Amino acid sequence: MEQAPQTKHIIMLPFMGQGHIIPFLELAYNMLHHNHNLNITIVNTPLNINYLRSAIANRPSPSSQIHLKPLPFNSTDHGLPPNSENTDGLPLTQIIKLFHSSASLEPAFRLFIDEVVSSVGNSMVCIISDVFMGWANNVAKSFGVFNYTFTTGGAYGTAAYCSIWMNLPHRDLANGETYDEFAVPSFPESCRFSITQLHQFLRAADGNDEWSRFFKPQISLSLESSGWLCNTVEEIEPFGLEVLRNYVKLPVWCIGPLLPSIMLKNNSGLDTNPGVIGERTGKKPGIEAEKCIEWLDSHPIGSVLYISFGSQNTISEMQMMELAKGLEESKKPFIWVIRPPVGFDLKGEFRFEWLPAGFKDRIGKRGLIVHNWAPQLEILCHRSTGAFLSHCGWNSVMEGLSQGVPLIGWPLAAEQGYNSKMLVEEMGVCVVLARGVHSRITKEEASRVINVVLDEREGGKGEDMRKKAKEIGELIRASVEINKGSSFKAMNDFLTTIIK
Ligand code: UDP
Repeated sequence: MEQAPQTKHIIMLPFMGQGHIIPFLELAYNMLHHNHNLNITIVNTPLNINYLRSAIANRPSPSSQIHLKPLPFNSTDHGLPPNSENTDGLPLTQIIKLFHSSASLEPAFRLFIDEVVSSVGNSMVCIISDVFMGWANNVAKSFGVFNYTFTTGGAYGTAAYCSIWMNLPHRDLANGETYDEFAVPSFPESCRFSITQLHQFLRAADGNDEWSRFFKPQISLSLESSGWLCNTVEEIEPFGLEVLRNYVKLPVWCIGPLLPSIMLKNNSGLDTNPGVIGERTGKKPGIEAEKCIEWLDSHPIGSVLYISFGSQNTISEMQMMELAKGLEESKKPFIWVIRPPVGFDLKGEFRFEWLPAGFKDRIGKRGLIVHNWAPQLEILCHRSTGAFLSHCGWNSVMEGLSQGVPLIGWPLAAEQGYNSKMLVEEMGVCVVLARGVHSRITKEEASRVINVVLDEREGGKGEDMRKKAKEIGELIRASVEINKGSSFKAMNDFLTTIIK
């Protein structure tokens, strides 16, 4: 009689942020889709485990093979406000504390791995940890277990992010000089980066600052793992992947996009049935998906601008005011997810004083303002959505591009400046409107850029961007085709490698 294949155990450790937790969960589902004999445990802090619990419960087909393991964590021990276990809602100045606090999970994680290894022995195949949780590689090594690094970013953005933090190529520390333009190790000399693409903390980093003290060791440890998984598609980032492979000098599997399969059916711009995609994040949106879709249904195909700065970033009050005026002037329909501007409590109530007086009345049905959190996937899948003003967080980029939606970039943190550079220079699907929270924007410039990207006329920049975004969307959707797509094959190859 044929023996049933032995169940294999995988432990996953995302960093504590929505933009990391969501793709880790998708990765778990994706692996299970390829191999039913897996038992996957996602480890995190208690509140993040609660998010994951409700995200799993809300999925159309929750999986009994995904387990959740909370590790003890008290945010106040790390100088964070009570119950702060996620980048969401934390002001930028506190995020570094969250980064450093993540390493405090190591002893409890070690105990947990000890328990798993003692109970399942060599059917525990590997730990997949976030690039920011490099310490998991040390834990894996001490138990003789393989460790793989998962970067939730794209190839280009990840390579630039890691190489710049590790080498600080924008600085001459001996002379205290900072360069406006510079080359980045592992990138060709001709690919120049600008200081404006760097986050404010990175601009001033000297290798000994609190950000470098976190990123350098975590990235170094991740570079010692057995290979990297990257949430991208081989065909859409050929240059970025060449650079990333050159940088990490390890196998890199492109297993993206990690999106619900309904978004990857081969017809972009599909009208979604509300609730089909489901609430993946366990977060309550400021508007029901049904209402959003009803509103989108009342607007012409490709006419709506969707605006969101992701799960943790926000813009300044002054920028918000100018953007609102620019939206008014552009005359284009829009959905705008508004989070409190910089300096306000990110978990606080929405205030109309952040917008020009009478804005809502003048906009009427042309604009939909959503407080804090929107059903983003449903919006991006809708055929009325024609452009996405985004902070260029990688999940948002993949979500938009998978539906052939071009972008207006407003990078705010992390590797977003490099993502937007790549989207402009390599893909031609993005126009950058502003960078960071200090960049001065005017209503005229905002309105101009919105009109360029949403311009329906043939032969213009808008049409060119739409065409390119559509082609990339097709490549993304083709990559998951069963037995044929590059990401499908890469996932099979990865699983074959770990389950020898
Ligand atoms: N997101 C959402 N609704 C919102 C804002 C964000 O569903 O109103 C989701 C979005 O779809 C994406 C994630 O949150 O999956 C944000 O990840 P991303 O990498 O774009 O940015 P981050 O939040 O990590 O900066």
